[in-house]
Amino acid sequence: MIIVMKPRAKQESIDRIKSIIEEKGLFAHISAGHEVTIIGVVGDKAKLMDQNLAIYEEVDKIVDVTESYKLANKKFHPDPTIVNVGNVTIGGDTMVIMSGPCAVESRQQLLATAHAIKKAGAHILRGGAYKPRTSPYAFQGLEEEGLSYMKEARDETGLPVVCEVTSLDAIESAVKYVDMLQIGARNMQNFYLLKEAGKTGLPVLLKRGLSATIDEWLNAAEYIIAAGNPNVVLCERGIRTFETATRNTLDISSVPVIKAKSHLPIIVDPSHATGVRAYVKSLSMAAVAAGADGLMIETHPDPSIALSDGPQSLSFDQFEELTEELRPLVSIMGKRL
Ligand code: PEP
Ligand code: MN
Repeated sequence: MIIVMKPRAKQESIDRIKSIIEEKGLFAHISAGHEVTIIGVVGDKAKLMDQNLAIYEEVDKIVDVTESYKLANKKFHPDPTIVNVGNVTIGGDTMVIMSGPCAVESRQQLLATAHAIKKAGAHILRGGAYKPRTSPYAFQGLEEEGLSYMKEARDETGLPVVCEVTSLDAIESAVKYVDMLQIGARNMQNFYLLKEAGKTGLPVLLKRGLSATIDEWLNAAEYIIAAGNPNVVLCERGIRTFETATRNTLDISSVPVIKAKSHLPIIVDPSHATGVRAYVKSLSMAAVAAGADGLMIETHPDPSIALSDGPQSLSFDQFEELTEELRPLVSIMGKRL
């Protein structure tokens, strides 16, 4: 349920409604817009059954929110959320490009990548230090050593860094080194991990689960926000379908759907969506045209010897060519790169 106040409602009218909600043991989420304040009720709204809030001064209307996610819901928070990652803002007028290797393999590999992607115009360095691999025998990541290279790359280039966390231990280590935590597709519904990531207060990049509906994805975001962390960025990375020509199927329609249902920024990862380097450019273009707030693109100094996801990774030259080709489209969309 949301209570929409009349335009320019007085603070005392807003405070009165807020205290009625809180007296019932519920949480009142205040979204103060330019003219209109919206008060969202989080919790069991049945506790307000004996209250007719519509009669209070300056209450305009009461709207039922049927979706189970509330804090991630656009009805609760009509203005878009802008997430700050270091000195980069996601959800504003910059098309934010995150790039880097699937896995941090060595200090030299990561530093070379950080410098190359920065030169090509990327804003954030990605790199996996904890790799959730399909096979237990595949390279599992350098763990804390990899995180230390991420921090070194950030210190050398000034690019904020994002790294996936797969456990509580990984979160405890990562908070010492990175600017943003990534929750991967395979952990999107690891509710314990979501809550722990929420508690850190660091911005969280939440990838869509392999077979998750948009509602399930937004409920996962709700876990993080409900843990006290509103800094969530969603990442569409393709979903499982019957199609086998690409690794996953990029659900490009999730971009406008998320924009309609939520205030959270959304970026697109065409690398994991396709699994094929040759398709990354087309889907990057599609993501920009669909209104995404950013892109995540895997790059590697030599994709032919990458320890993971080589076939979908771009070389530095290919990445630079991509950012150059994206520039005019980004500006047509009213953004900058
Ligand atoms: C990744 O970003 O390297 C990754 C493992 O992605 P996803 O969780 O989307 O598969
Ligand atoms: Mn990868």
